Amino acid sequence: MSIKEEIDKLTQELKVYQDKYYKEGISLVSDNEYDRLTDRLIALEKEHPELQHPDSPTKRVGSDLTNDFPEVKHTIPVLSLDKAYSDAAVLEFFSRSIQKEGGALSFAAEEKIDGISMVLYYEKGILVRAVTRGNGEVGNDVTPNIMTMHSVPLSLPEPVDIAVRGEVYLEKADFERLNAAEADEAKKAANPRNLAAGTVRRQKSSEACRVPLTIFCYEGFWSNKAETPSDHLHILSYLRSLGFRINPHLAFFDSDKEKARKKLDDAGLEGEAYSFEEIDEFIKKKTAERKNLPYEIDGLVFKINELGVREKFGYTEHHPRWAIAYKFEAPQAEAKLLDITVQVGRTGRITPVAEITPTKLGGSTIRRATLHNQEYIDELELAIGDTVSVSKRGDVIPAVESVTEKNNEGNTTYKMPLDCPCCHSPVVQVGGLQYCQNYDCPDQVKGRIAYFASVDEMDIVTLGPKTVELLYNAGLLRNIEDIYTADFQKAAGLPGFGDKSIELLQKGVKESLSRPFATVLSALGVADIGKKSAEILVKNGFDSIDKILNAVDRNDTEAFSSIAGFGTVTGERIIRAFSSERLRETIEALRKAGVHMSAEEDEKDEEENEQVFAGQVWCITGSFQHFNPRTKALKEIEKRGGRTVSSVTGKTTHLLSGEGGGSKRAEAERLGVKIVSEDEFLEMLGQEKAETESDENGQMFLL
Ligand SMILES: [Zn+2]
Repeated sequence: MSIKEEIDKLTQELKVYQDKYYKEGISLVSDNEYDRLTDRLIALEKEHPELQHPDSPTKRVGSDLTNDFPEVKHTIPVLSLDKAYSDAAVLEFFSRSIQKEGGALSFAAEEKIDGISMVLYYEKGILVRAVTRGNGEVGNDVTPNIMTMHSVPLSLPEPVDIAVRGEVYLEKADFERLNAAEADEAKKAANPRNLAAGTVRRQKSSEACRVPLTIFCYEGFWSNKAETPSDHLHILSYLRSLGFRINPHLAFFDSDKEKARKKLDDAGLEGEAYSFEEIDEFIKKKTAERKNLPYEIDGLVFKINELGVREKFGYTEHHPRWAIAYKFEAPQAEAKLLDITVQVGRTGRITPVAEITPTKLGGSTIRRATLHNQEYIDELELAIGDTVSVSKRGDVIPAVESVTEKNNEGNTTYKMPLDCPCCHSPVVQVGGLQYCQNYDCPDQVKGRIAYFASVDEMDIVTLGPKTVELLYNAGLLRNIEDIYTADFQKAAGLPGFGDKSIELLQKGVKESLSRPFATVLSALGVADIGKKSAEILVKNGFDSIDKILNAVDRNDTEAFSSIAGFGTVTGERIIRAFSSERLRETIEALRKAGVHMSAEEDEKDEEENEQVFAGQVWCITGSFQHFNPRTKALKEIEKRGGRTVSSVTGKTTHLLSGEGGGSKRAEAERLGVKIVSEDEFLEMLGQEKAETESDENGQMFLL
């Protein structure tokens, strides 16, 4: 098939699918298949724009526009929500928001109804338009059909100008009844949402009227800001008083249960009160209740209650920053297992990794998924060539969940090698996991060095995994401590390594000497001591390496295990790890190089850093040459006593504006906030101007 023929065929197919789905609520193909075809067509059209049809279905990706109902521009932001797949991720959203605000916040939790998102526009209290979400900017005007719904008030008791968001849905029982009565098999809907979607778009409202759609409303946007309540709970009670249908299954979270209860009472709302710690309990309860509800829900929505804070946090391009949707089901996709590779980590752990056909999952294309260990592979009876289902759950690493179809190539269950794939020393089993126990195993050594230098640890900018690999192979880096003693001049001439690279690497290494002791402690990569544990150790009196080593030498497990959150196992692991002669050699060499080995050294360093930004409030926009990621610029500001915020307000004193700074820059100009360029900022920091890398070397620093 020629490219042109393939484009023509995909265009035709997708048009049929779109029409069926958006006009009749019928999915002819699975979402995955639909996405796959759409991606393929987008890719082909990108390569051959001259072959794109003027009415290509790709122009409507993610939109629900149809030809039947006029398009209307929304006057309020109608965005979808960022997603979470675990209670930990929701808790993380709570704490991230509270930290960002720097003060107390409370959160409303609502059921995420699996229906059709709708915006009801009222002018002077009269319903003038009901508009589907569409692509978030433009939706379809479906007013005549929505007007048939008894749960949507046609006029309000007050002459307000308001836009109300809600979810139109069909109860399960109504769906079963209507579907059973539908004689034409082909016209039966797959689920309540499909039937509701089809109904909202019926051409005759007299037909739509026969389907008992209903709505739960959950947001109100008043044209007159002065009429807007100050928090979400009062929005809900106000909406209810205007005659809108509100979901009674409301939950509310605050730092303690009593506070949450009081806020619900103040707003005159029924609802369940929870403290933040009870999030997992709440999610478990809702997950269990889900199947007994009269309507379908696919998740829970958590929103910041305080509207002033919502305004401050604002929106990303795609989502509000003040809300998150917990989804009951993690995104899943099918892929073929092409191969299994085996990785050796910095701790020596050997992990099998599935190499799969490129697959779209939760918004990104994945090619690899974890398989945990041999036991897991055995349980799945997984063989190369099998078709597998992969999912993204709590964390970002996708995992193989199950085998959906066995291979027909005669492959049997995969067995991991008995030798380390890197150094070929025998693999040792420890509690179901496989380890290479050779401390000098090249993959382990490289992993340790790269971990030590990584952004979250010592942050030696130019020393990414690929550079470590290069310098290791050249014999320049064979240990963490070599970072501070190696003669990097000898790297001159290595592929992509010019004088400039050497200079930057040396500069990065020198800068890392000022990292605080807690960071050094965690960068060592010792079992159980991550960033958080390192900080806890320092706070609990282990504020120098000597204090730690002394306790280890006394074999004083209790000194560690008595720390809140540590326990005996952790205590024993710390003692075992720091008893290692090899680790102690590294520590002594690092001490000699001038790396901080006590909190006292941190303090000395801080005193030398003047607080030149004290009393200033900085915001940042655009991208930078010298600060990548740009959070590095924020750290520089904070180090010098400045405060950083995420949006420009009247209190902001400086806007650090890089390339492509858009709306924040305009806002700063409007408010008369001082705008600082990257060069000016570097001058303020007393550093040289941003260096532009030559193309020859540039690649090395993207790592
Ligand atoms: Zn090895």
